[in-house]
Amino acid sequence: MAKKKVATRLEKEHLSKVASLGCLVCQRPANVHHIRPVGLGMGMRSSHYQTIPLCREHHQGQFSIHNCKQEFEAMYGTEHEMLQKTLKEIENIEEANNFFNYNKGENNG
Ligand SMILES: [Zn+2]
Ligand SMILES: [Zn+2]
Repeated sequence: MAKKKVATRLEKEHLSKVASLGCLVCQRPANVHHIRPVGLGMGMRSSHYQTIPLCREHHQGQFSIHNCKQEFEAMYGTEHEMLQKTLKEIENIEEANNFFNYNKGENNG
């Protein structure tokens, strides 16, 4: 009954932006981790927009969000704090891009 959720083009774009930020902890190349949604029942898939970049080690290694969630969150902040940080960074990058394009336009005009 349940349909498998496939990422749309926009979601894929977002996921690649998240991954391109690099690991939130150590800045190494990252994969995306889907955080557990707040206020949704167990078994609900979190959205592709609720993702944070973590390298292999910090994602699923010995000391990682999957293996030592409590210690990890105590040290680096909760998943949701990391999500806010991630979204903010993407926003900043997008603002910088817009600014750059705007200036380019002016120079050409
Ligand atoms: Zn890392
Ligand atoms: Zn994960």
